[in-house]
Amino acid sequence: MDFDLTEEQRMIQETISKFAKEEIAPVASENDKKAHFPRDIFKKLAGLGFMGTPIPHEYGGAGFDYISHAIVAEEIGRVDSSMRGTYSVQVSLVELPLLKFGNEEQKRKYLPKLTSGEWIGCFGLTEPNAGSDPASMISSAEEDGDHYVLNGQKTWITNAGIADLAIVYAKTDKDAGPKGITAFLVEKGTEGFSTKDLHDKLGLRASNTGEIYLENCRVPNENILGELNKGFKVAMGTLDFGRFTVAAGCVGAAQGCIDICKEYAKQRIQFGKPIASFQLVQQMIADMVVECEAGRLLVYRAGHLKNKGEPNTRETSIAKYYCSEMVNRVAYKAIQIHGGYGFSGEYDVERFYRDARINTLYEGTSQIQQLIIGAIELEIRAFT
Ligand SMILES: Cc1cc2nc3c(=O)[nH]c(=O)nc-3n(C[C@H](O)[C@H](O)[C@H](O)COP(=O)(O)OP(=O)(O)OC[C@H]3O[C@@H](n4cnc5c(N)ncnc54)[C@H](O)[C@@H]3O)c2cc1C
Repeated sequence: MDFDLTEEQRMIQETISKFAKEEIAPVASENDKKAHFPRDIFKKLAGLGFMGTPIPHEYGGAGFDYISHAIVAEEIGRVDSSMRGTYSVQVSLVELPLLKFGNEEQKRKYLPKLTSGEWIGCFGLTEPNAGSDPASMISSAEEDGDHYVLNGQKTWITNAGIADLAIVYAKTDKDAGPKGITAFLVEKGTEGFSTKDLHDKLGLRASNTGEIYLENCRVPNENILGELNKGFKVAMGTLDFGRFTVAAGCVGAAQGCIDICKEYAKQRIQFGKPIASFQLVQQMIADMVVECEAGRLLVYRAGHLKNKGEPNTRETSIAKYYCSEMVNRVAYKAIQIHGGYGFSGEYDVERFYRDARINTLYEGTSQIQQLIIGAIELEIRAFT
């Protein structure tokens, strides 16, 4: 076992960390308050190769390994979870499924546009009545000559309102449960495709979230991603990528809380001393550090398996479950260390605390991760 980063991984870490500190962090709070998605920063990240991290060069990507992909999510998440969310969706939920399940023509057509940041992508699985149980979706796709006609609604879709390309899931055989779902590549501007932004979110306010409406939306047959009726496999394969970057982003956000708290605890004076000198404050910092480092090791282990091309659903779910719960505990302590000031929007820990909350909910709730891990351990599935 080698715990050292390679020379290349260290260089990637330095570059993205510098960019995050200099370009993303200074405007993160303002963008959160204005619920503004900074497209200029997204484009700059893409210009540095960070919107196509694990995608091969031939499709416009940077060709990084999965540990590097995690490092990028971590360093962005260390300063801004909204931008980390956009990164996760663009790379893990759109580009990676295209790479894994797309045909050569689809890869050549879409990947360079996405990795260059010219296009933004989104992943449309969730529906108003189908969240943890996506196989119960009611969106449908009916064959009509050389097209499929899609009808239905998707909700809580990250990037929906700003996306140029949506991977949308619909039933092509309504009686076949998970075996009757197909994934479609739907371009913005396709007739019958529209979106509506969702507002007033608890966190991730600088990230776009919206609904997708499919009203007799005609999608050419060649835009099926993967095989007909095999969309559930595409969705689950995609979530193995997505959960990995969510977990890495949680480690980054936890590290961000630790960075801020160390500085604050050294300069905040009570009882004539910096609060950092009090044992109970040190205990909180120590717990935050231990949990963050444990999470990082879980993420890197999953990344190591991904690099080797080995099965990693179990390890990815363990990392996602642990890190998403962990960042909430860490952000809670970060507020505690800031006392009353932590309750104010003037301090970044308030944003970190709100942003942490989403991680146990999306890309499979903590309960769903527990059921995935439990099913693998026990060889008994709690749900079909
Ligand atoms: C900001 C944001 C961004 C999102 N981005 C996307 C996106 O880009 N694309 C996308 O497709 N979706 C996205 N989602 C949707 C997200 O993935 C779902 O919200 C999530 O899967 C949970 O579904 P639900 O909200 O319908 O909750 P439900 O499935 O209704 O769950 C409610 C509660 O019941 C529990 N529960 C459900 N089933 C079981 C079970 N079998 N056993 C035990 N407990 C159970 C859950 O754990 C949870 O606690 C996003 C959501 C948010 C809030």
